[in-house]
Amino acid sequence: MSKAIYPGSFDPITLGHLSLIRAGLVVFDELVVAVLHNPKKNTLFTVEERVEMMRDAIAEYKGIDETKVKVESFDGLLVDYAERLNIHAILRGLRAVADFEYELQMANMNRHLDNSMETVFIMAQDDFFYVSSNLVKEAAMLGANVKGLVPPNVLKELRAKVKTS
Ligand code: ADP
Repeated sequence: MSKAIYPGSFDPITLGHLSLIRAGLVVFDELVVAVLHNPKKNTLFTVEERVEMMRDAIAEYKGIDETKVKVESFDGLLVDYAERLNIHAILRGLRAVADFEYELQMANMNRHLDNSMETVFIMAQDDFFYVSSNLVKEAAMLGANVKGLVPPNVLKELRAKVKTS
């Protein structure tokens, strides 16, 4: 049974993330989506909210078998968390060239920390090549309609945040 961890901030989840999970399940039998809890990072949604939104989004997304995906939160070093789960593959997405350098550094750092850990990259689907959580967040907070970039449950949550902010 091949397994990988798909780590990220997912603040918020976009259709790009969900498309990568679907693609990841072509390569791996099971995925653990690991939502990063980093108290130093200012996030729009709490880690509990992000985990719940990810679970709901996966359940609603056609094309992902939710029995093959676990969603958890983690903090600290990714390699330690992966070691605890006895998983040695990390799944990451690659979009524009801009992702490459950062991802290369991270992959090499993780391999340096634990040389049994390999990072597997899947290219972003062309529809979502330019979709990032940060852009979605900024646009939504300025009142833009981000339908088509995020799943319906996230759209609802973003609209609620705009109203209360
Ligand atoms: P991080 O803060 O770790 O970069 P993100 O939530 O921004 O967390 O991204 C998590 C992972 O998902 C990264 O590997 C990123 O490259 C990938 N990703 C983000 N957006 C997309 C997208 N539109 N298509 C494919 N992969 C994506």
